[in-house]
Amino acid sequence: MKQLSVYRINLNNMDGDGAFLCPSCGALISPDDVSEKTYKIIDMETYEDGSLKTLSLMCKKCDAKIVLEGFEILRNPKNL
Ligand SMILES: [Zn+2]
Repeated sequence: MKQLSVYRINLNNMDGDGAFLCPSCGALISPDDVSEKTYKIIDMETYEDGSLKTLSLMCKKCDAKIVLEGFEILRNPKNL
């Protein structure tokens, strides 16, 4: 049985436009890519006010599951 890997990425450790490399296979995963060629969104968690808590993606190249967290940084006015 195939073992699925789960990677966690915190947005606070990221700079630039939010694009990152798949920790497993190195494929570029960009939020601007809405074609779902490289990844697809499989799950998301939100806070009570509807803002994003975590976003789970699956890399289509290697099937790794990637959980993005740290969206709180987007709610902080000093980062706007
Ligand atoms: Zn991958």
